[in-house]
Amino acid sequence: MNYDAKSVEKKWQEFWEKEGIYRFDFNSNREIYSIDNPPRYASGALHLGHATHYTHIDFIARYKRMRGYNVFFPLCFDVNGMPIEVNVEKLNNIKMREMERHKFIQLCEEFANSKIDTMKMQFKILGESMDPTIYYQTDSPEYRRITQLTFLDAVEKGMVYRGMHPVNWCPRCSTAIAESEIVYINTQTDLYYIKFDVENKYVTIATTRPELIPACLFIAFNPRDERYKDLENRKARIPIFNREVPIIADESIDMEFGTGIEMVCSIGDRNDLKLIKKHGFEIIQSIDDQGRMTDIAGEFSGLYTLDARKEILKRLEEEKRLVKVEKIEHNVGTCWRCGTPLEIVNKEQWFIKTVELKDRILQIANELKWYPEFMKKRLEDWVNGLEWDWVVSRQRYFATPIPAWICPDGHVVYASKEDLLKRNSHVDPTVENPPVDKCPICGKPLKGVEEVFDTWVDSSISPLFNTYFYRDNNLFKKLYPMSLRPQAHDIIRTWAFYSIIRCDIATGNKPWNDIFIDGHILAEDGRPMHASWGNVVDPLKIIEEFGTDPFRYFAATCTLGEDTPFRKRELVHGKKLLNKLWNVANFVEMNIKSKSEIYPEDSMDLWILSEFSETLENVTLFMDQYRYDRAIRELDEFFWHVFADHYIELIKYRVSKNLGTQYTLYNVFLGIIKMYAPFMPHITEEIYHRLFSKYEGKISIHLETWPEKYEKIFLDEGRIVKEIIASLRRYKNENNLRGINEVIIISPRFDITSAYDSIKGSLGISKLEIIKNASLKEIIVEAKPDLSKIGPLLKNSVSNFMEIFKNIPPERLLEGFEFKGIKIPKDYFEFKKIYTFKGKKVDVININDVTIIIK
Ligand SMILES: [Zn+2]
Ligand SMILES: [Zn+2]
Repeated sequence: MNYDAKSVEKKWQEFWEKEGIYRFDFNSNREIYSIDNPPRYASGALHLGHATHYTHIDFIARYKRMRGYNVFFPLCFDVNGMPIEVNVEKLNNIKMREMERHKFIQLCEEFANSKIDTMKMQFKILGESMDPTIYYQTDSPEYRRITQLTFLDAVEKGMVYRGMHPVNWCPRCSTAIAESEIVYINTQTDLYYIKFDVENKYVTIATTRPELIPACLFIAFNPRDERYKDLENRKARIPIFNREVPIIADESIDMEFGTGIEMVCSIGDRNDLKLIKKHGFEIIQSIDDQGRMTDIAGEFSGLYTLDARKEILKRLEEEKRLVKVEKIEHNVGTCWRCGTPLEIVNKEQWFIKTVELKDRILQIANELKWYPEFMKKRLEDWVNGLEWDWVVSRQRYFATPIPAWICPDGHVVYASKEDLLKRNSHVDPTVENPPVDKCPICGKPLKGVEEVFDTWVDSSISPLFNTYFYRDNNLFKKLYPMSLRPQAHDIIRTWAFYSIIRCDIATGNKPWNDIFIDGHILAEDGRPMHASWGNVVDPLKIIEEFGTDPFRYFAATCTLGEDTPFRKRELVHGKKLLNKLWNVANFVEMNIKSKSEIYPEDSMDLWILSEFSETLENVTLFMDQYRYDRAIRELDEFFWHVFADHYIELIKYRVSKNLGTQYTLYNVFLGIIKMYAPFMPHITEEIYHRLFSKYEGKISIHLETWPEKYEKIFLDEGRIVKEIIASLRRYKNENNLRGINEVIIISPRFDITSAYDSIKGSLGISKLEIIKNASLKEIIVEAKPDLSKIGPLLKNSVSNFMEIFKNIPPERLLEGFEFKGIKIPKDYFEFKKIYTFKGKKVDVININDVTIIIK
């Protein structure tokens, strides 16, 4: 009977939940293995990538539990920020800024909590073993409190500043965007060539953003550029606005781009900003928070930039200043959330210093063990390319408030750390009073800061929250640094990077020992999954069809760090594997009536214990390196091809009578399902309960310990015997035999005589002999020329040769043959041989140096 995954899986999911099987033990002295589980973002259901990723982490948690660790594996959710806000706006058809702040926050909370309920259910269906008793949500008052406290640590250490600084700004979302949140896209855009007057002549500059003409501060060219040499230190007049700007030489100008002479505007790109700083100009605000032109644009003020561009181009054309328009490829930074091209604006923002920490971050990156190792380079590249500090303020509502108040002159009063340490919730300066009643510097009234933190400010302290930093010092000492940070590669420059910074500022130490970086799951066609491409695979639908264990089997075949296309055939294979395990369990149940304590003597029992031990060593090694794909391959090979296909066949004839064989069968199968347990927790639990729990005494296989090794004896000999038996079994099938009369095995190298009974018994051989040497006579009865080889060699004489060939005795061809002076090598002939042994014709099978004679 086939295994019925659906009903079995549901039963055990309920059981694990009811019995509280997966728990971190706060009172235990066992060594701790702690996982900084990625708090799942609470904006929607899990997709296939999430489901696979969390399953990979679950493999490790389950494996480490069986290895005897006290595993800390929290169930957690990330509940802050813009994606939730945007969803709430869409869902309710409202605008955040048109609503009362706290009412909007409440809607966000309700939305997120409904998503969390769904995802908790999905984690359960996926068989994930996260511990709900060490649950957290990043929007809980307790979590927000730790976010604020650790921010105040950074304030104390001089790592925080507030200031006018250029930031990447999304005009649609009206908020600052961190460098790591920019998505660069390559797009086609127009390059406009525009005439600027220089005294009574003119110069043509090229720009992609003519609407920024009113913000032009100066014009620049490369000093090596002969074309513009005589323009240096003269003035140009900008069109339409008729303002004079200086002409400056600077080596950074690209002579190949456009005309080699550019306008530098107070907001343009990063290069403009560098030039403005270098040449000592002031930044003027020319675009407002919503992406409209400011007063500086005169009659165009109030227009959105794209509208302003149209109007200004129209005017340039009227004034005959537009020389030409050219299409170019252009790299544009866009908002990660909404895809709007970003502006760079000069804004009062809050920053955590990161640029000055570069060396320290690289040092910590080196202290971590990276799996796979090459992922470290991604962090290093990111850190080395870093130019700006981390802008941590967001002009939004649903996130942790910045714990500060500010006076009209810009003096900042932070929340009191002492006060925060005593409470169990965070500070909300938009409704709470400051610790002092007026500004200590100017005496003016203080107002709560309305900006909130970037969500990475929250999620980057997960290693601190998990280890009870500021909550329980003893636990912190026990738990920090954590054992493992598992995460995906697309958030190395955010989550990994910011976590290292925040934890270093707070503790001066690395957050984890190991970091494992997972790849993405692609669609079956190898492309990313996209609703519009119709290639999205829903993990729950797969589970509905195949069951959770086959899905987890697919997950186990993905290599850590690699992007893997979804492969349905792995689910099909996983399902077959379940049936195979189920059939073997039936066999074991039929043959084991009580647990045997008799250690085996039969050499093939000793051999399977050796094979098992070798598999166990390899699986353990791979799991320790987070190479679950290699581990499962190793395990499959052993279970399927060695244990089930060979060993079980081998013992069928004697298992009922041999207690040593029963001991072996019991223990090896128990070891196999233990090794499968992290991957396929349901079927292994079912089999454990059916066959083993009454003897082993645990209420769940997931509370069991990892198997132990046996002494490796008879391993190489056993492998030869396995091959001998396999080939004789094939021989029997091909010849439709129920038994074999007489077999002689000549094994010159390995002593396999101790497997005598196994070979004889399992194959039904009447008379078996195993000897070291014997002479076997080989008679060539027929030879056939290979004409595809001989034809080209002999050319025209082929037919001549074929005539005389009939009369050549085949054994004369064994050393090759010379015909008309041409040597024909022996492998140009195919020989048919028969064997005789002691004068009688026999069948022969050769395996390496072993010869099997069948009479
Ligand atoms: Zn946006
Ligand atoms: Zn003040």
